[in-house]
Amino acid sequence: MYCGVQEEWCRAMSGAFEKETGIKVAMTRKSAGEVYAQVKAEASNPRGDVWWGGTGDPHLQAAEEGLTLEYESPVNKDLHPWAISQWDAAKKRTVGIYAGALGYGFNTQQIKAKGLAEPKCWADLLDPKLKDDVQVADPNSSGTAYTLLATVVQLMGEDKGFDYLRALHKNISQYTKSGAAPAKAASLGETAVGIVFIHDAVVFAVQGDPIKPVAPCEGTGYEIGSMSIIKGARNLDNAKKFYDWALTPAAQALGAPAKSYQVPSNKNAPVPAQAPKMSEMKLINYDFVKYGSSAERVRLLTKWDKEIKALP
Ligand code: PLP
Repeated sequence: MYCGVQEEWCRAMSGAFEKETGIKVAMTRKSAGEVYAQVKAEASNPRGDVWWGGTGDPHLQAAEEGLTLEYESPVNKDLHPWAISQWDAAKKRTVGIYAGALGYGFNTQQIKAKGLAEPKCWADLLDPKLKDDVQVADPNSSGTAYTLLATVVQLMGEDKGFDYLRALHKNISQYTKSGAAPAKAASLGETAVGIVFIHDAVVFAVQGDPIKPVAPCEGTGYEIGSMSIIKGARNLDNAKKFYDWALTPAAQALGAPAKSYQVPSNKNAPVPAQAPKMSEMKLINYDFVKYGSSAERVRLLTKWDKEIKALP
């Protein structure tokens, strides 16, 4: 199993499945863009069976490129419409397993020490007082960071969106590999702001760290975390068993105890009490078909490398 969420949840899922079925799981955790690259590189000799978790865009790209298999689970009937719309968009090759909104977490002590008001908007992250004090991942490896790239393009328009990323670059101390790493850094005060999925900041806020999660005032994007079966899977029957099981309420309930507070895709699965309330946020109408398409992902990532990452 190639696993795209946080390590702790990955281990809880593989352990629970092994216990329930006796089927041994070899699990590897990687960021979304890295799993996509691995599945593509292994296409002629697949080593993975199922790709569970991580942002939906690279799952959609893999679907379009024929790297994953069509599958219809009997559990589909119990899923929220947004999870099925992901399955429809992928022509049955991926399905939604959870949803979460993008935002950021800020270290309350650092923001106070800099004499800044509490940030509420994307625009607030451009303040020169935040120079070298904002972290976000690299969108090539991280699904979180690609969600940011696609979000600002949809929210502001492409030209203004790239202007925003150029201005933000002045405040970025480093582009991390993993999407959630900046939340931990902000909770420890290693950076004033970490741009992450809001639920990744909540993890540290609920344990009492001085970090506050923000759903940006201008509006924000979100992810439909997804699952796909890899084409050429050597253990296809077991991959399907895992897939069906992973969509059940019992399996989806394993997220919260593993400190993952996404909204599950099964209507009968409990929503973690700590999950950020997506209904209270200003969410953009994220175009998953467009921004999960191979051509658009390649184009935007190439442009980001050239116009943003290459800046001094
Ligand atoms: N962490 C959580 C809790 C997520 O929901 C996701 C995406 O689904 C990620 C991390 C993504 O990780 P990355 O940005 O490293 O691909």
